[in-house]
Amino acid sequence: MKKHPAILRLIPALAVLLLNSALDVRLTHAEPYTEKVGTNIVMLGTGNPNPDPDRSGPATAIISNGSAYLIDFGPGVVRRAAAAARDKGITALAPANIKVVFSTHLHSDHTAGYPDLILTPWVMGRRWPLEVYGTKGLQAMTDHILAAYQEDIRIRTQGLEHLSPDNVHVNVHEISTPGQVYKDANVTVTSFPTKHGDWDQTYGYRFDTADRSIVITGDTSPTQATVDACHGCDVLIHEALTLKFLNNSRRPNPQGFDLSTYSGKYHTTTTQLAEIANQAKPKLLLLYHNPITLQPTKRPFASTPDDLLQEIQAAGYTGPLSVARDLDVY
Ligand SMILES: [Zn+2]
Ligand SMILES: [Zn+2]
Repeated sequence: MKKHPAILRLIPALAVLLLNSALDVRLTHAEPYTEKVGTNIVMLGTGNPNPDPDRSGPATAIISNGSAYLIDFGPGVVRRAAAAARDKGITALAPANIKVVFSTHLHSDHTAGYPDLILTPWVMGRRWPLEVYGTKGLQAMTDHILAAYQEDIRIRTQGLEHLSPDNVHVNVHEISTPGQVYKDANVTVTSFPTKHGDWDQTYGYRFDTADRSIVITGDTSPTQATVDACHGCDVLIHEALTLKFLNNSRRPNPQGFDLSTYSGKYHTTTTQLAEIANQAKPKLLLLYHNPITLQPTKRPFASTPDDLLQEIQAAGYTGPLSVARDLDVY
């Protein structure tokens, strides 16, 4: 093979360097976790119902002064929390340390990790009941999960493990009307209504700590309530469906339902999110729960993180934004 002069071999590297510095202008990257005081966001799961091994089900943690507050418990939540504790030193997310959790709604992709969150940290030594805040129906779901595992709980409490039945208990707080739902020395949490198709009740949450304001919507179509909840907040964490995904005729749709109609009632497109974000003016727009792949060579017709960014910017949003990946810390 012909050898190119050194300067020619440097050109691809220089191009990558230039491209990256150009991207840095418009993207805010996740920063390494170093700060123990103050507030950090840990993205435990950024995926959607697709069981993508690179992207766990939706789950987010806000860490304030060493305490963890979880939002949603998609599949994989406990494993990702354990990874954050082991690999990033975020001890608040050692599964047995988790105590306070908020649920945006009861869709399975946001709750399939619930039995795991109730049971596994208990088996691993949790010393208190979980406190879980969410919508109407959360109590019934909790009761059914505990009933389904009653034999496991009986054997672990009455058998040789001698686990305490108190610590597998869940204190459920169903939120009947939006407003302040939680307050302690680290954080005040306010719920606001979101719009998610046929669900009677779905909530987003705003977290106010001494140093940050963070709004997370869960699943929603565009709504003024999101704009009002953020209103110049530090971070807005929001879903967005790409137009590429919606218009992809090669996307599998075995049930054959009308995705555009469904999306219009249940979700937000990139174009709609640009408009919401331009009104809400977050200091950082953080994208999660999107139909993207991190391995485009294996799914060539799927949207990529760049598709997501480009669509939102093409729709007129010029503020800071980032596509979150599992275990990113912001
Ligand atoms: Zn949903
Ligand atoms: Zn969802």
